[in-house]
Amino acid sequence: MTDRVPHLNTRLQGFGTTIFAQMSALAAETESVNLGQGFPDTDGPASVIEAAIAAMRAGHNQYPPVPGVAALRQAIARHQKRFYDLAYCAETEILVTTGATEAIAATMLALLEVGDEVVTFEPWYDSYGASIAMAGGFKRVVTLRPPQYNFDPVELERAINAKTRIILLNTPHNPTGKVFSRRELEMVAELCVRHDLIAVTDEVYEHLVFDGEHIPLASLPGMRDRTVTISSGGKTFSFTGWKIGWVCAPAPLVAAVRTSKQFLTFVSGPPFQHAIATALDLDDDYYAGLLADMRHKRDLLSDGLERVGFEVFRPQGTYFVNTDITPLGGTDGVEFCLELPGRAQVVAIPTQVFYDNVDEGRSLVRFAFCKRNEVITEAVERLARVEWEPRPRTA
Ligand code: PMP
Ligand code: GLN
Repeated sequence: MTDRVPHLNTRLQGFGTTIFAQMSALAAETESVNLGQGFPDTDGPASVIEAAIAAMRAGHNQYPPVPGVAALRQAIARHQKRFYDLAYCAETEILVTTGATEAIAATMLALLEVGDEVVTFEPWYDSYGASIAMAGGFKRVVTLRPPQYNFDPVELERAINAKTRIILLNTPHNPTGKVFSRRELEMVAELCVRHDLIAVTDEVYEHLVFDGEHIPLASLPGMRDRTVTISSGGKTFSFTGWKIGWVCAPAPLVAAVRTSKQFLTFVSGPPFQHAIATALDLDDDYYAGLLADMRHKRDLLSDGLERVGFEVFRPQGTYFVNTDITPLGGTDGVEFCLELPGRAQVVAIPTQVFYDNVDEGRSLVRFAFCKRNEVITEAVERLARVEWEPRPRTA
């Protein structure tokens, strides 16, 4: 537990500074290879950068409409149809946000009453707990356990009670790399329908699926009308700093989320909105190229970490690989990650910080592979030079 922060309200006590900011600062301080925070070390397509510049030159520099610029809303609608055969009305069923982060926060602020509960899976993405807390809600977790990161359906069912309002699902899943299967999504859908819950899905890694397929929960029977689908352009186009995200949902849900969104940022980044509109329409070769490139990086890093001696849970999706440090003599991921810059000049993220039940993830460490191949190779070489003190397996 972090120390009490003066002035900070009780809802936000304990959230501290995000692990990503902490570990990126540590990487800079120690001149380490940063495989912690998930951001690519190369830019996305030059044509998309040109589109942003052209939009600025064309005068798209003042407040855009609150729902987002029309060109982007239309491009999002085309994208949902093209990849998932899901039809959304660009006028009433799509809302552009300041990244997926704002979409998640605005959704929680719009939909939760004080005291409501949100069921989500642990490890969770770091902003979930804070967004739920800011809205006065409570998070209730169901644990995903390695090696497959499956969940126990009984645990999921038991997490739901009279106060539950939302199931918040992230697929492809950060930090485990799990891609939820149709069978698993059907279980979630069945519970949403049975208990009249709203599903909120975080699909920011939708185009980074190496094994299996990405299935939007909204595409399952009975789910379109009760699902708020969230995504963003950061991962798909390698522009994480542009913070262009969006929500697709039935009109009444979009109207609700828009109400809170307008008082968070109101609007943001019109030139970037125009540019991401052109990006979403890129041809299939772009999407296939991104995937092939990331698959290569996944294997480069996973194979390398295996050679070093980590237990590697090769991800089905995302650009993160989760590992267990036990075979290298590690027991605690936080300790391990704090020592890692000194031992190897490499930075990684202790997965345990994404758990309510910390023991479930104590010995897990996450590495990002959205980096140039030579950077990944350098990191692996540095890790391979360390004299680890492996412990014999006890079980
Ligand atoms: N959800 C997940 C699972 C993420 O990994 C991230 C990190 N980029 C976000 C949401 C936030 O996305 P954005 O940068 O578009 O706000
Ligand atoms: N999503 C990124 C990650 O998981 C980090 C984004 C952030 O720093 N907020 O590494």
